[in-house]
Formats: sequence, structure tokens, C-alpha cells
Amino acid sequence: MTLKLENVAKTFPDGTRALLTTDLEVGAGEIISLLGPSGCGKTTLLRIIGGLETPDDGGRVYFDGQDVTDLPVERRRIGMVFQSYALFPNMNVRRNIGYGLKMLKLAQNEIDARVSEVIEMCHLGGFEERSISALSGGQKQRVALARAVAPRPRILLLDEPLSALDAALRDRLRDELATLLRRFDITAVFVTHDQTEALAIADRVAVMSQGVVQQIAPPEVLYRNPASEFVAEFVGDAQLLRGTIAKDCLHLRGGTQVLPKDGQGHTAFVRAENVLLDPDGSLSGRVTSVVFLGTHYRVGLEQVTDEILFAHHAGPAPEIGSDQKLRIAPEAVMLLNPSRVTQ
Ligand code: ADP
Ligand code: MG
Repeated sequence: MTLKLENVAKTFPDGTRALLTTDLEVGAGEIISLLGPSGCGKTTLLRIIGGLETPDDGGRVYFDGQDVTDLPVERRRIGMVFQSYALFPNMNVRRNIGYGLKMLKLAQNEIDARVSEVIEMCHLGGFEERSISALSGGQKQRVALARAVAPRPRILLLDEPLSALDAALRDRLRDELATLLRRFDITAVFVTHDQTEALAIADRVAVMSQGVVQQIAPPEVLYRNPASEFVAEFVGDAQLLRGTIAKDCLHLRGGTQVLPKDGQGHTAFVRAENVLLDPDGSLSGRVTSVVFLGTHYRVGLEQVTDEILFAHHAGPAPEIGSDQKLRIAPEAVMLLNPSRVTQ
């Protein structure tokens, strides 16, 4: 199913402008992530898609070209997964998953077949008769997902489904979810404030701030070509290189950095993984912190710019207080238009 939002905005009765005018198109089977800090309007947008909230006058929502703006939630055929699993504690796994199918008044053998199918897909085999209270957090979330997809909804809406899980489990379930959603071949909108989740799961990520979609792009494009400072800093922790730009050179406290092109009127950003310790580098700085992160050391350096600049280093660990040369490939410098978004 394709999804289209036209002129969708939301002002709550108390005057809160949760969502400014938004247009969005999602292709059939596409997985979109809404990514942004808390309070930026993600849930509001998701609830408008689901029919749990009505947009301000003039906003329209289309499913496969059909205007569903005035269609109530129960007639939109959506599947939903939330952070709180919202499972029925007094029913076992099989009955939780079959619940929506029963509501659709399907024949029992059809219900059984579909439930078995999603149990298999969601790796819940062997847990059919378990009660919900006897499941781990990750298993509960898989049951919630299975229950949401069993009625074959036209679109799956997920609101921070992994946020309640502990870190290790969250990473595992994130990768699993990315694979599962593709296998279901379902159009999905996935809300998260976690950039890693958004990059891992979505075909395209919509970065939101203060009720506005700032940029929507495939993960790689978003990461490598952020459209604004806000996106660069929110996705992947880009660092500002504060200095003076003169044509294709950036003069920093610790030396001169060549830019990929004339950077006049722009600000320069770089990601830590593109700042490397190299004796032949053109920049210099002094080591203030060294942290081992398994795959590399994260090295903090002062006197390169006004703030601490972080670099990645394979090893050996440099000494704190030592002077080091740094290298940044010109192509790794991102030149962005200063944006007014501050959050
Ligand atoms: P997110 O999901 O990105 O954290 P929300 O969409 O929940 O953000 O909220 C966006 C803004 O709208 C916030 O400022 C929030 O406080 C406000 N908001 C959400 N729901 C309501 C409501 N029912 N009434 C008034 N304000 C609301
Ligand atoms: Mg929310």
C-alpha cells in the first residue's frame, strides 16, 4: 500500500503546534523511519496516519490514493506496535496473536494457519502456549509484532517499539526487526529517537525537529550528505570545525584543512571516524582523552579547533598530553548552510 500525506498539520486545543504543514509520500512496501528528539511531533504524525488523531483543516491522508482522512481507526486496517507491548496478560501467546483475526470473524482453521505462519516468522515456535507474564521483554515485543501483522494490515505503525528493552537485547531485536519487516513486505512507519535504529531499519529516514521534517533520504545519503547542521549533528554526531574559510581552505587553530570545494558562506563539519592520527597529517593537536571502544580508540584532542575534536585511531593508544598530527581527507569535510534550527 502507498501512503500519502498532503498539507497535514496538527495544532492541539491548548494551542500546541505539534506538527507544522507536512507532505510525505511512502511507496508500497517501503519502510520509513521518523527520527527526531523527544517532543518533535513523531507520535502525532504517526497517530494522524493511523486515524487516532485528526489533522487540522485542509490536511489529507491517502491510502493507495483513497482519501482516508475521515475514516475511523478501526476501518483503516492498520497494525500497531508500541513501546509498552499492550498484550493481553490473561491470554497465552497463540491467543494474543489470534485476537485480531477473531475480531475479523475468520474461520478457526484460517486463524490457526495464519497464527502458525507468523509464529514461525517471528521465531516464536515453542512459545505458543506460554502465558505473557512468562516471556522476556524481547519475546513480548515479538508477540506484539506478530499480533500486529497477523490480520495482514495495509500498513504497520511502530512507535519506539524497542525503547523499553535493555541495550544488548535492543541491538539484537533491531537487526531482527529490520529483516522481519522486509520479509513481511509491508509498508511501515517506524518512530524512534535513536539514530542507529532509524539507519538500520528504514529504507528512508525522515529527520524531524520542532514539528518539521528537516530532511528525508535513504540512510546512506542522510549520513553522508546531511542537508543541515541539525541533521548532521543529530545523525552520527558530526563535529563542527570552527575556523576561517578562505575559498577551499579552512584555517583552524591547529593548521590548515583543504576543503572539497569553495566553502565560502558554509560551516564545516567532520565525523570522528574521518579524523585520523597520522604523522604526515596537516593538522596538529594535543591528546586530552583516550577511550578504548573495542574496534578503535576514540581520542579527544585540544588545540585543533576551539572545542575538543574527536578522532578514531586503530592503535596503539596515544599518550595523554602528547602532541599528535591529524589528517582529514578533503572529501570527508561536510560543508553545510548554517541552519536556524537549534535544538
Ligand atoms: P514525539 O513523539 O516526537 O516525542 P509528540 O508527537 O508526542 O512528540 O508531541 C509533539 C508535541 O505535541 C509535544 O510538545 C507534546 O507535548 C505535544 N502534545 C502531544 N499530544 C498532545 C495533546 N494531546 N495535547 C497537547 N499537546 C500535545
Ligand atoms: Mg513519541
